[in-house]
Amino acid sequence: MSEAPAPRRVRVAVEAPQHSGLTGPLDYLGPQDLTPGTLVHVTLGRRDVMGLVWDDLPDGVELPEDERLPESELRPVGEALDALPPLSDRWRRLVEFAASYYQRSVGELALAVLPPQLRDLDAKQLQARLKKLDKADAAAAAQAAATPATPADRPALTAQQQAALDAVLELAAREAPPPALLWGLTGSGKTEIYLRAAEAALERGQQVLVLVPEINLTPQLEARFAERFAGHAIVSLHSGLTPAQRLRHWLAAHLGRAQLVLGTRLAVFASMPRLGLIVVDEEHDPSYKQQDGARYSARDLAVYRGHLEKVPVLLGSATPSLESWQHALGGRYRRIDLTERIGGGALPRVRLFDMNRLERKKGVTTTLSVPLLDALRKRLDRGEQSLVFLNRRGYAPVLHCDQCNWKSDCPHCSAHQVFHKEDRTLRCHHCGVSARVPRACPSCGNPDIAPLGRGTERLEEQLAQALPGARVARIDADTTKLKGSLESQLAAVHEGDVDILVGTQMVAKGHDFRRITLVAAVNPDGALFSSDFRAPERLFSLLMQAGGRAGRDAAQAAASEMWVQTWYPEHALYQSLQKHDYEAFASSQLHERMSANLPPFAHLALVRAEGRSVEAARDFLTAAQEAAQALPLSLGLLLYPPVPMAVARIADSERFQMLIEAGSRAQLQRFLRAWLPELHALKRRQKGLTRWAVDVDPLAI
Ligand code: ADP
Ligand code: ZN
Ligand code: ZN
Repeated sequence: MSEAPAPRRVRVAVEAPQHSGLTGPLDYLGPQDLTPGTLVHVTLGRRDVMGLVWDDLPDGVELPEDERLPESELRPVGEALDALPPLSDRWRRLVEFAASYYQRSVGELALAVLPPQLRDLDAKQLQARLKKLDKADAAAAAQAAATPATPADRPALTAQQQAALDAVLELAAREAPPPALLWGLTGSGKTEIYLRAAEAALERGQQVLVLVPEINLTPQLEARFAERFAGHAIVSLHSGLTPAQRLRHWLAAHLGRAQLVLGTRLAVFASMPRLGLIVVDEEHDPSYKQQDGARYSARDLAVYRGHLEKVPVLLGSATPSLESWQHALGGRYRRIDLTERIGGGALPRVRLFDMNRLERKKGVTTTLSVPLLDALRKRLDRGEQSLVFLNRRGYAPVLHCDQCNWKSDCPHCSAHQVFHKEDRTLRCHHCGVSARVPRACPSCGNPDIAPLGRGTERLEEQLAQALPGARVARIDADTTKLKGSLESQLAAVHEGDVDILVGTQMVAKGHDFRRITLVAAVNPDGALFSSDFRAPERLFSLLMQAGGRAGRDAAQAAASEMWVQTWYPEHALYQSLQKHDYEAFASSQLHERMSANLPPFAHLALVRAEGRSVEAARDFLTAAQEAAQALPLSLGLLLYPPVPMAVARIADSERFQMLIEAGSRAQLQRFLRAWLPELHALKRRQKGLTRWAVDVDPLAI
């Protein structure tokens, strides 16, 4: 009997909380033949946790003395889940990059992006799962293999689509394809290009990853892919799946059985051994940015992954993010344009309704202006549908007493509690606290407290009153809380059971409503004066997208209209919108960003701090700033002083932020790597500080 080879030092990525200061994989003792990418059980402190065997340090590189435990003190690796093929080298490079770029530990990120259920399995349970999957997959896989990638039933491409597809295929044939920005109006046939590019990848025996911004949009796209690629193995990956489904779908991707993987931002980390194409639909959408933990941008990581795997990345949008647009202008991304709507449908005429010219009469509400009501009535008479868009849910943003000036403030936040009439509650949209509406003013007893302003609930009520007989429906976060309710409400709109649909940005995105001929934005001006420099960009894309809902049916396109009520009709944003001129809008915005030294011409990081007192949050950031100034690497960076966040207090937590601006990404990264360890140390010393976090490339400021 030969002796077992001596165990060796192996590095294992484990989910150590970031504040522990452990950033790299930890050393354990394991068998010689343990392959990187294998899941193993290890002991961390006193807990048994899942870890992922990481790569050995390159030859000649060693950890500093004080971080390198002697072999005699290392703990042994536990059970290995080696029935699962190891996560690939490229997958580990993606995770390593994301962890380093967004300043998290490799282990935290690696474990966080795996399906949660996988972490709880032992080797035996995993084997049982795989066996069960094998049986279920065998039949499906046989069918998938036998199904030709070329579907019989697909439309002939327009000349413009053919040119776009040729461009994509030409890129795909390259050794290292650059990302492509597919710029095309809503209804210009972008999805058809995704489908054709996917088809080509499937023909090459490759897997395709398609990202969509929102969970609500996955069923639609899934249906379209499922219809086109009937018989192929398609799985979805998003947070709405049960843990068991998520594991099953993830395994199908990892084992190479799923040919198409559709998902939200977390799917960018799906393990796919034969990845051949990545599609990012609506690439400008803010939902691609993760808002807690590792605050990654799935769009940006998709681009990086394409570069790593040498596969084409197709970014699609009618209103690309200014970052992507600038990359296209500079030649880093290849731009592919679709300028015509399929079937020749025209874009809706944009009518900028000047609120200054509205007659001021008592009792005339400004939101539902008389001309707007007339326009809605016309649609009603013709049996057409309208969409009225207001980005504020609830009945009224605040209740108010005009005797003593009391307002329904949230006791825990620096914000008002929103009045919801349906269940007669006051609800805080920041901390979630909810209370009964008081009978009288809590401060002076005046029984006449009144709602101030307007949300979708009130708009719905006022529309129903002003247009008797009209079937008015509302879609927003409040009406769609129950599973399946959004689907059934959308179905009602499609069936023609609704004349006027009221909603928040939820309805502006993606839905293919055929009978809508009027889209009205009743109060969009707020974004023009926001302290967030990205607000105009978001407003423009939202309005373009909302407008795209109208006139998708070419026969009605000519009569379609987008109605924008504004006090600033001369504003450049609205002027570009009126001409459907994204290019002009982008160019004016980029000009402004350049002169203000903002992204994409500068690179930002934001440090946010929350504390039990103003002092705790502010003092932490002040100390952080001093530590930054003492670092030579901060030379040439702009360190803004700490300021309260836009909503300064949420759930009794005081919130401050501090912005860092750098001329180059690399410079920012070098600085953050040197600075963050100091923040971890400061956090331990700062009393009353509850949380802090760094956000690289923050979206909302
Ligand atoms: P987008 O993704 O840009 O909004 P879609 O790909 O959804 O556009 O196309 C809009 C509509 O036109 C869809 O109903 C689609 O089925 C249809 N369509 C797309 N390409 C063609 C084509 N070449 N011939 C006929 N219909 C098409
Ligand atoms: Zn009062
Ligand atoms: Zn609150």
